[in-house]
Amino acid sequence: MARIGFIGLGNMGLPMAQNLLKAGHSVQGFDMSQVQVDALAGSGGTAAASAKAAATGAEIVITMLPAGQHVREVYLGAGGVLSAVAAGTLLIDSSTIDVESARAVASAAAAKGLAMLDAPVSGGTGGAQAGTLTFMVGGPDDAFARGKPILETMGKTIVHAGGAGNGQAAKICNNMILGVSMIAVSEAFVLAEKLGLDAQKLFDISSKSSGQCWSMTSYCPVPGPVPASPANRDYQAGFTAAMMLKDLKLAQDAAKAAGADTPLGADAAKVYGRFVEAGEGARDFSGVIRYIRGI
Ligand code: NAD
Repeated sequence: MARIGFIGLGNMGLPMAQNLLKAGHSVQGFDMSQVQVDALAGSGGTAAASAKAAATGAEIVITMLPAGQHVREVYLGAGGVLSAVAAGTLLIDSSTIDVESARAVASAAAAKGLAMLDAPVSGGTGGAQAGTLTFMVGGPDDAFARGKPILETMGKTIVHAGGAGNGQAAKICNNMILGVSMIAVSEAFVLAEKLGLDAQKLFDISSKSSGQCWSMTSYCPVPGPVPASPANRDYQAGFTAAMMLKDLKLAQDAAKAAGADTPLGADAAKVYGRFVEAGEGARDFSGVIRYIRGI
């Protein structure tokens, strides 16, 4: 069993750390919010007073933070993780961040002889609680082999996507598909309504035809056809529109930096931007159909 330092015990990090505890690992955790640290201690973990304290003596350090600037600060800042850990410690960042920050932190770690994985997730808070997350992992082969058994205590599907930053690349490419496809499916349902075509009929046909996709058959944005989708509970998140906007912006930044032309991704970022500006950021991202319908 490993001694793990866990930094960032929010909606995702806390249940992930609790699954590590359930599997028998010891976890020393830190978060800016004392409430979250206390919740970890209440589940059998150890409260750490700083990121440095959480990382000190750990064989593995896992971070689950909001954005690239927090990850840079926690690893590279004065009193950060890189200044605290012993040689041989494995570093795993599971936050969703920009590819450039992921590669910069991994290369600073490598310069100190430390192996690092970027391992962003999909599956949301439900997946974090159930231990069924999908991890998309970037980093060296030997670091992946070491990290995989630990990731398996928090997730069900663990995919090695290549070198440093490729986990983040996979995450933003996937979510760009999701953002665009949710808008496409929503536009189709709104057009169907205006043409007098029943939503259930469109679903029955498209779910068995070439319009079939995850946004249609697993997360349908109209109430009825898929009982588990957020449309049936007034678009309570799920995966918030604000999070989708964050990922679409990361995809646009990466596309600009790499010289890739992604016009539909750019339009999707604009649509979600307006939806969030309208005060709907905390709603599920499939609620974008309400914006498309003009509500
Ligand atoms: P969250 O805001 O609930 O948690 C982030 C935590 O980090 C907070 O508790 C905050 O206090 C803490 N934090 C911030 N700066 C810190 C610092 N310097 N030191 C220590 N702690 C610090 O966010 P979340 O929903 O847990 O998401 C975390 C990451 O996972 C994000 O990158 C997000 O994009 C990604 N993600 C979230 C979901 C989801 O459904 N919530 C799904 C997939 C991926």
